[in-house]
Amino acid sequence: QPADALPELNAANLETNFTDAPRSLPHRGSPEEASQSVCTDHMVTCQWTAQTGWQAPKLHAYGPLQLMPTASVLHYATECFEGMKLYRGFDGKLRLFRPKLNTARMLMSATRIALPAFNPEELLKLIVTLCATDGPKWLPKERPGSFLYIRPTMIANDPALGVQKPKQALLYVILCCFPEMDAKPAGMKLLASKEDMVRAWPGGFGFAKVGANYGPTLVCQGEARARGYDQILWLYGKEGQVTEAGASNFFVVWRTPEGKTQLVTAPLSNGGGQLILDGVTRRSVVELVSTRLHDELEIVERKYDIGEVMKAADEGRLLEAFAAGTAFFIAGVGEIAWKERVLKLKVGDDGCGKYAGQVKAWMREIMYGKEDNAWGYVV
Ligand code: PMP
Repeated sequence: QPADALPELNAANLETNFTDAPRSLPHRGSPEEASQSVCTDHMVTCQWTAQTGWQAPKLHAYGPLQLMPTASVLHYATECFEGMKLYRGFDGKLRLFRPKLNTARMLMSATRIALPAFNPEELLKLIVTLCATDGPKWLPKERPGSFLYIRPTMIANDPALGVQKPKQALLYVILCCFPEMDAKPAGMKLLASKEDMVRAWPGGFGFAKVGANYGPTLVCQGEARARGYDQILWLYGKEGQVTEAGASNFFVVWRTPEGKTQLVTAPLSNGGGQLILDGVTRRSVVELVSTRLHDELEIVERKYDIGEVMKAADEGRLLEAFAAGTAFFIAGVGEIAWKERVLKLKVGDDGCGKYAGQVKAWMREIMYGKEDNAWGYVV
């Protein structure tokens, strides 16, 4: 580092102050656990200012933040985050899943909204330290197959209302209890979005994991839930390009009229701009299928529209559809409603079609240490 450079994010400077008021674990399956509001004993925070650069990160008791009412994040959505999990393996080890993809994505998201850059490897070290501190208690060895949700976050905490590039930011990492995901035996029900509610658009920021992408989807999601649907299938444009489902990437498996079986998903780069998040689960599905199922399934990352999906269904060529993301993992789709049409798909007892079920099982084996694989990152 040149002598006049500001300090970088540096995990080696971590200051640790363990809590003197340890918290208790929610019971398995309790409403408390399902509330997604119970976090572990500790958190990591690190303050940045334009004058001082990154200060020393701190590991300390979990608790409220102090923010001035004028803080940039509260007015201008200068916020980004990540979603990861810490898994308790069947071999007793704690693992992350491909965490470098998340820390790199966090850097991309932060810089898209003028939050400060940082070395993603240092963020990963901080995440690992927090996981190693709280993981052993909050994911007891007696509960293999369980996980905590990891939420790295960055907010601009400048205490001034000026609309400008943030001069102060707070990076923090928390570990949150998360309910066990029940497979939906009939699969998920998706309601396709209408043209008046768009999640992402060319030149926008739909490819970044910024809070501003999520709040505005909740009207749509609330309406869908009230009508008995689980998630929105996000379409884009007049032609109804299929992009994502809820906060997950989306896949279909169909047979082409020529008889090829294809796994189809929206592309990362879409001519005018990227409309989808580069999901870690999406990538992993694509990579697993390309190495283990290439004889059966051709992978196609391209623009496709809802009309093509409906046509494939009408012609008996649509085999499966599924959503893929960290929080709800791989979830088979049993129904898609679009305009006046309702498309139904057959799923197995696990709520998934054949291919989704296979890929899900492989990924689970890696996450929980049943398969030794470099994607499993031991803490
Ligand atoms: N799309 C959106 C909009 C998301 O918020 C997420 C969750 N991060 C995903 C897709 C899935 O990404 P990942 O597999 O990395 O969790």
